[in-house]
Amino acid sequence: MIPHVLPTYNRAPLAFERGEGTWAITADGTRYLDLGAGIAVNVLGHANPDLVAALTAQAGRIWHVSNLYQIPEQERLADLLVDKTFADTVFFTNSGTEAAELAIKMVRKYWDHAGDPDRIEIVTVEGAFHGRSTGAIAAAGSEKMVKGFGPLMPGFKQVPFGDHEALKASVTDRTAAIMIEPVQGEGGIRALPDVCLKGLREACDRTGALLVLDEVQCGMGRTGRLFAHEHAGIAPDIMMVAKGIGGGFPLGAVLATEAAAAGMVAGTHGSTYGGNPLACAVGTKVMEIVADDAFLAEVNRKAGLMRQKLEALVAAHPEVFEGVRGQGLMLGLKCKAAPADLVKAGYAQHILTVPAADNTLRLLPPLNITDDEIAEAVARLDRAADSLPA
Ligand SMILES: *Cc1c(COP(=O)(O)O)cnc(C)c1O
Repeated sequence: MIPHVLPTYNRAPLAFERGEGTWAITADGTRYLDLGAGIAVNVLGHANPDLVAALTAQAGRIWHVSNLYQIPEQERLADLLVDKTFADTVFFTNSGTEAAELAIKMVRKYWDHAGDPDRIEIVTVEGAFHGRSTGAIAAAGSEKMVKGFGPLMPGFKQVPFGDHEALKASVTDRTAAIMIEPVQGEGGIRALPDVCLKGLREACDRTGALLVLDEVQCGMGRTGRLFAHEHAGIAPDIMMVAKGIGGGFPLGAVLATEAAAAGMVAGTHGSTYGGNPLACAVGTKVMEIVADDAFLAEVNRKAGLMRQKLEALVAAHPEVFEGVRGQGLMLGLKCKAAPADLVKAGYAQHILTVPAADNTLRLLPPLNITDDEIAEAVARLDRAADSLPA
């Protein structure tokens, strides 16, 4: 008999009743060190008092208002995002997938508005992940995600990851946009080198194609800058954000320049819940905390500490690990084999990690993880690695 919850996930036999900072706690009181953070979502940890206060204060005022009306909470968050980024305008969604859908629609509308409606090809990268909607799976194109869901939405062309020349060659004056993650998350914590992001920006400037960055996982302070593309000193035309921006409350956004958003006039897009007052009250508090230079400096300091300890862990277990990857607190341990056994061994040591493609174990802790918790996490990973059969 099919489970009452559609069985599209292979779930671990673990259920958490509450959380405190970097800890997720089961009903019997067992504490797990949470280095997954809901897959880069709980950027300020579980039950963060500032976020609880922002959410409950809003809950006592008004929960939901249609986008038929002004939503001051939404405008406040948009003001903050515009102030801190390249963007001139923001549309709020409830998830990264919805942000990807709008980004794709915005690209198409941009070229339609420019009088070139056949310019639809969006170049993407193999191993990418942009969500699970029909558009987002067509964009990423991986066999695992698209099999059985055809026919796929046309207009995407995938190029191999890391093939700089192929990527550059694929961008022509018929390319509508390039859509890419500055650091691939699901793909295995694979960062695009700064020079590659700069090259993509130049290719877009040369051809007129739009640069669309998917910062759903790598954004919101995760890499040590508010958004990962800042490391390369470039700016996109359109950017998708989600995961961390709500700190655990469902919230996403598409940020865009005025030029890229030119076609998106009244009636061209909408959402019932997108930019709901509860979500925006929390998102505003997350932004106030994370988009602060002192906070980001701490993320970088902790990232350095964690990386150093992980390098030592890799050196101590050459039979398990190949190396450390990633940027800031978006870290990956490249393993010799698929990381599923290591994730499981981690459960026995009461530490939560997340597997990714390319034999990579993801470590995506809350950005306010403490130094002691970093040391404890690496000690638990060390024991988990020890416990694997030779
Ligand atoms: C998680 C993710 C998405 C999809 O976000 P959802 O909120 O799950 O819809 C899109 N892009 C990237 C890079 C992601 O990591």
